[in-house]
Amino acid sequence: MDVNFQKELDKKMNAWRDGDVHPSLLLHSCCAPCSSYCISYLADVFDITLYFYNPNITEKSEYDHRLSELLRLVKEMPLPRKVNVETGPWDPDLFFEMAKGYEEAPERGARCIMCYSMRLEDTARVALDMGTDFFGTTLTLSPLKNSNVINALGEIVADKAARSAEAEKLKMTGTDGMTVSEKKEEYPSFVTLAELSEKLKANDWGRADIKDPGKYVPGAAAYLDTDFKKNGGYQRSIELSREYGLYRQNYCGCLFSRMQREKETENRNSERGYASGKTSKVF
Ligand code: SF4
Repeated sequence: MDVNFQKELDKKMNAWRDGDVHPSLLLHSCCAPCSSYCISYLADVFDITLYFYNPNITEKSEYDHRLSELLRLVKEMPLPRKVNVETGPWDPDLFFEMAKGYEEAPERGARCIMCYSMRLEDTARVALDMGTDFFGTTLTLSPLKNSNVINALGEIVADKAARSAEAEKLKMTGTDGMTVSEKKEEYPSFVTLAELSEKLKANDWGRADIKDPGKYVPGAAAYLDTDFKKNGGYQRSIELSREYGLYRQNYCGCLFSRMQREKETENRNSERGYASGKTSKVF
């Protein structure tokens, strides 16, 4: 049976509310509109640090605009607990290297899966460095993104990052006798599509703490399964975006998604007999 991630997260948060427990969470943020609902929902329980890591955003001006909107939102939104913002490196070459051969893949396809994985992996590494209790992502808010896929990736990544950190520790103490390249081979970067498909087939993600929702290991940087779009989350993010006058982009982030959106808009406009060049918000 499938897990209702939204309900499971509600149970965990209620257990922590009852015990006045406030776990720390490094929450990967893709943009201000998606973060608006997520922080309003999470901030009475978690000590949140938003992590803006998005090398998939091709243009620097777009990247800067999305980041400044996020910083403005956090400053203006009254929240029960303080939310911090950290930024990761912006390196679109890394994204293009990853996307090589998948330029034509449709949204939600192989390129997107690698793109989620790339951002989750970095978030997991930073969470381990910071020693946060959990890491997660706002990506599950979008109705265009499959939360099962994102949560399965999050759990694979958390497991790999923990093993990698363990290997680093062993390297430092010199007890495993492995070279760095051997380690890299053993702990490769980016989740492969085969690993994801195996995880989805096993259908075992999100089950670790169902029996005891309040249980967690402090500082372990475990992945927090979410499905923020449920329970009216996506609709609420639109209302909050209006309330704070947030910039809502009409494409996901990379050059390919922008081109796809422009093409769709042009097709729609020409079907309706409009002059090309007009755009409408669809994302
Ligand atoms: S469409 Fe979005 S998720 Fe997919 S590769 Fe581009 S930026 Fe990443």
